[in-house]
Amino acid sequence: MTRRELWSKIKNAALNAYDEHEADAVSGLIMEELYGLTKVDVILEPNCKVEVALIVEHDPEQVASLLCEAYPVQYIIGHTTFCGHKFHVGPGVLIPRPETELLVKLITDDIRDSVNSSKLGKQLNILDIGTGSGCIAVSLAAEFPDAKVVGMDISDEALTIAAENASLNNVNIDFVKSDILQSMPGGPYDVIVSNPPYVRESEKSMMKRNVLDYEPHLALFVYDDDPLLFYKAIARRGKEKLVSGGKLYFEINEALDRDMFLMLLDEGYRGIKLVNDMFGKPRIIKAWLN
Ligand code: GLN
Repeated sequence: MTRRELWSKIKNAALNAYDEHEADAVSGLIMEELYGLTKVDVILEPNCKVEVALIVEHDPEQVASLLCEAYPVQYIIGHTTFCGHKFHVGPGVLIPRPETELLVKLITDDIRDSVNSSKLGKQLNILDIGTGSGCIAVSLAAEFPDAKVVGMDISDEALTIAAENASLNNVNIDFVKSDILQSMPGGPYDVIVSNPPYVRESEKSMMKRNVLDYEPHLALFVYDDDPLLFYKAIARRGKEKLVSGGKLYFEINEALDRDMFLMLLDEGYRGIKLVNDMFGKPRIIKAWLN
């Protein structure tokens, strides 16, 4: 099979599930990650044969049929990049989103500020609730190698992938299986962070097929009658587990920013601040405990 034939097979398959622009990006990523070919390689030597070993390892027919079905490209490749680090991903975990990188960046900047103003002279304790692939916990542990980071999740599959990602990135994290609706392990913590399920069932109709059909619903959805279920549990339990001045950081549903603000205020948190994502939507909320 030539480079041009492979490219057109992959691109045509992607066009079944994505618009032209996305299909271009998706097929470019597949070509590069699975077959080691950039667009320039294809343009310069279109008739050059693709290495047989690569064709055998990643059967183009199979890759094309997964793409046609809108199977997420990161699951096909098996990994993604988040905050500059490589993460294994598979159907048991949510694919890390760029919005979540902002959450990590905000926490990192805040911690650096408090270290600089020497409010923090001791070991940092950080808890990530619903750690999933471990992207938040691992990125924070990589930024702050002296911190003690705990990642909790209810899913065994997620915990296995998160542990793989911790070793892939050479960081030490305590992973704990626990349900936040039942208990919050360990503590006291300086920072508690979470990107819990926040998409309401009624919002399913607005979701893309590659997310809705393949990413874990356990990590995505909440019932419409109590969409802040996980946030309320974390805020309440957090009061027992955060040190005085400890901070809470959440990724949120942009439609529930006001409800989140009022809930945190009601629970006794202070310095509540909403932060917009790159699309101008309220996506992060932070607060501290007196
Ligand atoms: N931002 C994700 C999405 O839109 C949802 C993440 C979550 O529910 N925590 O698919």
